[in-house]
Amino acid sequence: MRNHSILLLTLFFLKAAVCKPITKNEKKSFNKLLVISFDGFRWDYDQDVETPNLDYITKEGVKAKYITPPFVTMTSPSHFTTITGRWVEEHGVIHNMMFNPETLKKFSFKETQNKTEWWDNGVLPLWITAQNQGRKTGSFHYPGGGANYSGQSVYRSLVESFSHPDSNETEWRENIDIVLKWFTEENFDFVTLYYGEPDQVGHLKGPETEERRTIIRQIDRTIGYLINAIEAHNLKDKLNVIITSDHGMTTIKKAPNVEEVLLSKYISFKNLTKFDIVDYGGHGMILPKPGKEEELYQALKNAHPHLHVYKKEEFPAHFHYAKNDRILPIIVYGDLGYNINGRFIIYVNKGDHGFDNNYMDMKTIFRAFGPDFKKNYLAEPFDSIHIYPLMCKLLGVNPEPNNGSLAFTQEMLHSTSEPPQRQSGLTEESTFVAAIVLSAVLSILVVIFVIYVPYTVIKRRTRSNQEAEQKMDRRTQPETNF
Ligand SMILES: [Zn+2]
Repeated sequence: MRNHSILLLTLFFLKAAVCKPITKNEKKSFNKLLVISFDGFRWDYDQDVETPNLDYITKEGVKAKYITPPFVTMTSPSHFTTITGRWVEEHGVIHNMMFNPETLKKFSFKETQNKTEWWDNGVLPLWITAQNQGRKTGSFHYPGGGANYSGQSVYRSLVESFSHPDSNETEWRENIDIVLKWFTEENFDFVTLYYGEPDQVGHLKGPETEERRTIIRQIDRTIGYLINAIEAHNLKDKLNVIITSDHGMTTIKKAPNVEEVLLSKYISFKNLTKFDIVDYGGHGMILPKPGKEEELYQALKNAHPHLHVYKKEEFPAHFHYAKNDRILPIIVYGDLGYNINGRFIIYVNKGDHGFDNNYMDMKTIFRAFGPDFKKNYLAEPFDSIHIYPLMCKLLGVNPEPNNGSLAFTQEMLHSTSEPPQRQSGLTEESTFVAAIVLSAVLSILVVIFVIYVPYTVIKRRTRSNQEAEQKMDRRTQPETNF
C-alpha cells in the first residue's frame, strides 16, 4: 500500500505542475509600446543642431538612416498608414481635409478628427486590433484616434482642441507625464502620442531657419525629459519607444526667383471645374464639370515645366494613391518646392510638403529604444508602411491584412523577442494535450501496478508454499537406495 500512495502522490504533483492554470491572454509576456510622432520632422533635422538626447537614444537603441512616408506626404494620410500598415489608396484617408464634391463642403484637418465617416473605411487601425486581442490602448492627439472603427472607439483618446498650442514645452512634458501614468497606474499596453511640431515652424518660417533649429532643440530636451521620466516610472525594462514622423519639409520657391504655379493662368475655374482642392502645399485635385475633363486635362498637361498633371486612372501606380473612390479625376503635384496655387497666389507659408515621397526633403525619421531593441543599431532606410508589422510584433498582436513586412525591421530586435500570440496559443494547446496524454499514461501505469503487484506477490507466495510443501514431503519420505 505504501508504494501505491507514493505513486498516486507523485502523479498528483505531476498533474498539478503540468496542468497549471492556462490563461487565454499572454500579454504579460510582451512589453509595452509608446509611439511618438513629431509632425513634419525631416530626416536630417538633427544634423545641424546639437541633439544630445537624440544622440543618446541612437546609442541606446535603433536609428534608421531615414524612412519614406507614403504619397501623399501629408499628415492624416501618412499617420493613418503608420497605424494601419496600408497604402493611402487602401485606407482611404487620402487628404488632411475631408471634403464632399457634391455639397462642395470642406473640413479642416482638426475638424476631421472626430468625423468617423472620414476615417472608418473598413480598415482597422492598430488601437482597435490590439484592443480586440486584449491590449489596453490609448491615443494622445494622434490623427485618427478620435474616430470610431466598425463601431469601436479607442479605449482612451484625447483629441487636439482647436486652440491647442503646438509648441508649449511645459505642456509637452505634462503630456509625457500623463501618458506614462497611463502605463504605470492603469496598465496600458500601447499608446500613441502626437506633437504638432516641428511642422508648424517648418511651414511658417521654413525648414532652413534658426526658428526650426530652435524647435528641434526643444524636441531634443523633451526626449531627454522622456528618458528621465521612463526611469522615474520604473518603465525602462518594460517599455519600448518608437519616435517617428509623417513627412519632411521643403522651402517653397517664390517669385521672382521662379515662376510659381498658378492654375488660373491656364484654365478658367468657372467654366471647367466643379470642385477642387488646391492651395494646399505641393498637391491638388480637381473635379471637372461634366464633359470638361479632357479640356481641363489638355489645358494643364504641359502648362508649367514644374507641374505634373494626371488623369486619375493614369496616375503612377507606385504611389499607391489613386485607386480610391475619393480621389478626384484630375491629380496635380509640383516639383519640389513648387506649390499648387489655384485662382490667386494667397499662400504665405515658407515651407511645405505634399510632394513626391521620393525627394529626400520629404523623408522623415525613425528611432526606437527599449528592452526589445538592439543598441547602437543603424538600420537601412525603409518605407513607413513597415512600422505596422513591427508594432504588432512588439505587442504580440496578430496583424490585420497589411502592405508592410517585418523583414525590413526585424533585424532591429533582439532575436529572443517573443513569437506572435497565435503561436503562443498553439503552444498552450500543445501543453494541454501533452498533460492529458501524460496523465492517461501515468493512470494506466498505476492501474497496472495496482493489479500486477498484488497478483505477482500472491503468485510468488503460492509458488513458494508449494515448493516448501514439496520439500517437506521429500524430507518425510524414507530414502530408498536401490
Ligand atoms: Zn504640415
